This record gives sequence, C-alpha cells and structure tokens, in this order.
Amino acid sequence: MLELLLALAVGYPGTTIAVPVPDDVVEARSEHGAALIVNGHALVPIDLAAKLGSRSVSIKTQGRGSYKVQYAVEDLDYPENHLTIQNKRLVNPYAEDVDRIQRESSIMRTVFASRTDPIDLSSGFTRPTEGVTSSPFGLRRVLNGQPRNRHTGLDIAANTGTPIKTMAPGRVAASGAYFFNGNTVLVDHGSGLVSMYCHMNEIVVEDGAMLEAGEMIGTVGATGRVTGPHLHWTVSLNNVRIDPAQFSALFNDLYGVGSTAGGGDTDAH
Ligand SMILES: [Zn+2]
Repeated sequence: MLELLLALAVGYPGTTIAVPVPDDVVEARSEHGAALIVNGHALVPIDLAAKLGSRSVSIKTQGRGSYKVQYAVEDLDYPENHLTIQNKRLVNPYAEDVDRIQRESSIMRTVFASRTDPIDLSSGFTRPTEGVTSSPFGLRRVLNGQPRNRHTGLDIAANTGTPIKTMAPGRVAASGAYFFNGNTVLVDHGSGLVSMYCHMNEIVVEDGAMLEAGEMIGTVGATGRVTGPHLHWTVSLNNVRIDPAQFSALFNDLYGVGSTAGGGDTDAH
C-alpha cells in the first residue's frame, strides 16, 4: 500500500486532526475505526493517553485504490488542577455506591462506543451554554490531594438555571441522575460522535427524542461532584474523548460556519 507523509500533520493528545481525503473516498480508517468525514477531510481523534510517535490513516477510494497517510502525535503539556470536594463520599464512594457507579459508567460507555447512522451536521456546532470556560479540557485532576482521571470535558461556569442547548442535532441516547456527573444528558450525533452534558439542574428532554440544532435540553446546575454551578461538556468521537473547543473550531472551519466553542473517563468534574 502506498504511504504518503503528510508534511504538516501533527496532532496532540486530546485533540482531533483533519486529514485531507479525495472526493471518491470510500472510507478513512484510523486506529479508532472509520473516521467521520467532513468536506474532504477525515476527522481523526487522538486519545489523551495516546503514545507519542507516528500513526497512519488508511484511505480507501473508488478509483485510486487504497493508500495510507501518516501523521505524528507530539506531546502537549496539560496543567495540573487541584480541587477540594466537600462531600467526601463523592471522592471516595462507599461500598454501597459501587454498583450504581458501575451501572451508570456502563450506560455512558455504551453510548460513547455506539456508531449510528450519519446526521446532517452542516449547521456546525454551537457552544451549549453562555458563560466563561472555568476549566479547560485535559487538566490533570487532583481531588482532595488524590491524583484522579484527566479532565475529559470542558467546564463552562454559569448561574443555576441558565439554559443548556445541544451543540448540534442528534438523538437523546441516555439521561439520568448519575452519582458523579449529576443530572446528565448524552446526545448521539451519528457516525460515532456523541456529546454529554453534566451537573444539570433540570433535564427537559426524554430519552429517544430527536433534537434540532440549538434545542434546549435543560439548565445549568450543581448536581453530582462539583464545587459550584457549571456545565461539564464532553465530546466523544470514535469512543475517544476530545477537546470540545478545539473540535468545534476545527469542524466549523471545515463547514465554513461561525466558530463558536471557546470526564474512568466518563467522569465529569
Ligand atoms: Zn468538568
């Protein structure tokens, strides 16, 4: 198979890279499976825990056979973040909480791993709520002095009751009051793209509902493991949690729409 070195293709753990593909592309496959293709680009997520070094995307075309494009994963130094959680049960859960935590984690993992039919996402992504970014994606979390999972979402600080809107059209794949994540909604945008919204005050959608662009799903709150009211927003592509801000900007750029955006690893914070 022909190998092409893409001179400028460098990606970082937790980000998504756009690999150009020809018009007659049939499939572009990374180590995480078939890539979401947007306007002549395969979007390839890079896991926060990815080893550094060379990777490749296998591209299958109708008329030109198959070939590989290489890219490099280089280091990105994410800062450490110390938090104090007053409710110690939410840092070191009781034995009786374990079944519930595992059940909820399993629901989230199943949704993240799903790959459903494509949905028209050409309207682009919108930031789900008004407010400033209070905690960016990727931070190394230390809770009450104990090193924990990386921050696999982006936090937006806002007052309780501020509306939360889906970042893009999709289907409500799951929702509930979860131990760590509080009131949570997971939206399936098709093609292995999923978004999750946590710590909500109120959920106003039902499981299975089809959401239009910008449809309200609930309000900002302080449920679950939090230090104050905020929205924790996770984006998952091909079952890899990625930086929502970087991904939204990249995606909107490819569609030429206004740039906007700016949690095992199912946990929110
Ligand atoms: Zn968070």
